[in-house]
Amino acid sequence: MPELPEVETVLRGLRARVLARRVAAVEVRNPLVIHGGSGEFAAGVTGRRIEALERKGKALAIELGPRNHEAGPEDAAGCFLVVRLGMTGQLVVVPSDAALQPHTHVRLVLEDGREEIRFRDTRRFGRLRCCTRDELEGILGRLGPDAPQISEEQFLDAARGRRGSIKGWLLNQQILSGLGNIYADEALFEARIHPLTQPGRLSAEAARRLHRAVKKILKRAVELQGTSFRDYIDIEGRPGNFLPRLRVYQRTGEPCRRCGRPIRRVVVCGRSSHFCPECQRRPRHAASPSPGGWRKRDRIPQGPLA
Ligand SMILES: [Zn+2]
Repeated sequence: MPELPEVETVLRGLRARVLARRVAAVEVRNPLVIHGGSGEFAAGVTGRRIEALERKGKALAIELGPRNHEAGPEDAAGCFLVVRLGMTGQLVVVPSDAALQPHTHVRLVLEDGREEIRFRDTRRFGRLRCCTRDELEGILGRLGPDAPQISEEQFLDAARGRRGSIKGWLLNQQILSGLGNIYADEALFEARIHPLTQPGRLSAEAARRLHRAVKKILKRAVELQGTSFRDYIDIEGRPGNFLPRLRVYQRTGEPCRRCGRPIRRVVVCGRSSHFCPECQRRPRHAASPSPGGWRKRDRIPQGPLA
């Protein structure tokens, strides 16, 4: 599932290719991926110029400028196209005559008609939404600080007194936005913290180590354009390059790159967690793992448009 580094890579790709270009036409091929009515969505986006792109956590917002013709007051203001890639969403920029791939749900044709942005999503958990600036602020306001931006003090404050598992805490987008399963596991390994450790029981030193690890892992993953397991590609259709750097994620049974012990897997909050039993010792006050599958109380808030 695309996490912060993958969304950041998509954002940078779009910034280089589509900034200052106008959306000439919109085709919604599957209304299920649109938040709200698809007719309203297409009408809201068509004819506007792409003015800026921003990101908070895994949410991507494309700022669209006012329309230049004289029409109703709603055309005088800009709007925002908010994209959540969900599990398997992809945004690609392709020539308009490129063959339509399966699961292409939305096409945004750019002004000269030669290229277009396509939204593909095999599992259809991704969402596109057209909204006002106030609505965007509401959406982003429900997310915790963007993971690379959070200060050490904010990080330590947020962990203080918290029960449950550190893994679930890192995945909670209302506390810290941008981490998913891959980078949460990698950050915990880097900081040598067991995924079932309770956040409130971390020593200040361990919490600082984790804060540094989160930033370090995300920075490196952004530099390498993210991780591709199955579906993630950048806007040019290229996979990310972080996969060979993974030290625990999806390496169950393989030797730890630090100590050689086999990597183990435990289900925490309904998600697989990968860790080294030697480098990440289980604390005495571990949170209880969920025995597998999803339970309602384990549900992790994923933020807006989920
Ligand atoms: Zn190890």
